[in-house]
Amino acid sequence: MSLLSVIVPCYNEEESVALFYRELTKNDPFFKEKEIELELLYIDDGSKDGTVREVKKLIEQDPRVHIISFSRNFGKEAAMFAGLEKSRGDYVVMMDVDLQDPPSLLPEMFEWIWQGYDSVATRRVTRKGEPPIRSFFARRFYHLMKKISQTEMMDGARDYRLMTRQMVDAILSMREYNRFTKGIFGWVGFKT
Ligand code: UDP
Ligand code: MG
Repeated sequence: MSLLSVIVPCYNEEESVALFYRELTKNDPFFKEKEIELELLYIDDGSKDGTVREVKKLIEQDPRVHIISFSRNFGKEAAMFAGLEKSRGDYVVMMDVDLQDPPSLLPEMFEWIWQGYDSVATRRVTRKGEPPIRSFFARRFYHLMKKISQTEMMDGARDYRLMTRQMVDAILSMREYNRFTKGIFGWVGFKT
């Protein structure tokens, strides 16, 4: 058996918590076939709504579900880091709870890991549906980052990424105070 940790930052997401669980667990037959155990870590980033209540409902029916709850809102970067620190998995994946990162991609992502990659990254191929002003600044951001930084970062890169333990440990060894995870992913190297 191997263990997969799924890290899910949540800020005021009471409506998404159960929907995400439903989508993720559609992979259960795949996990079973491949002898992958699951730990699902919801990171509550100081939500003011019923996010914690919704996660606790899931915990009652499924012992694979866990919660880490912040004392206030610290931001997604802090939530992702807390998740990485608590994760025990041989493999770790991070996903947004609002299903912008489709859990249905996981089996395909695992195929690449088994071919010898340390990390399988995802990116958006279209910015359709996003406010044009946001797309504009996002593109400028990646353009500028490419210019000023040697670290590789792809336009449209998401934090949705499946990694091996050795890569997670490398990320955790970086005690950055103001973390920028998308940059750190590239900085640590490894075959992606
Ligand atoms: N999130 C978080 N803390 C925050 C803001 C967002 O943990 O302060 C979570 C949020 O619940 C979601 C993910 O980070 O799971 C991405 O947030 P959102 O969908 O708002 O970002 P966008 O899709 O606009 O980039
Ligand atoms: Mg979103």
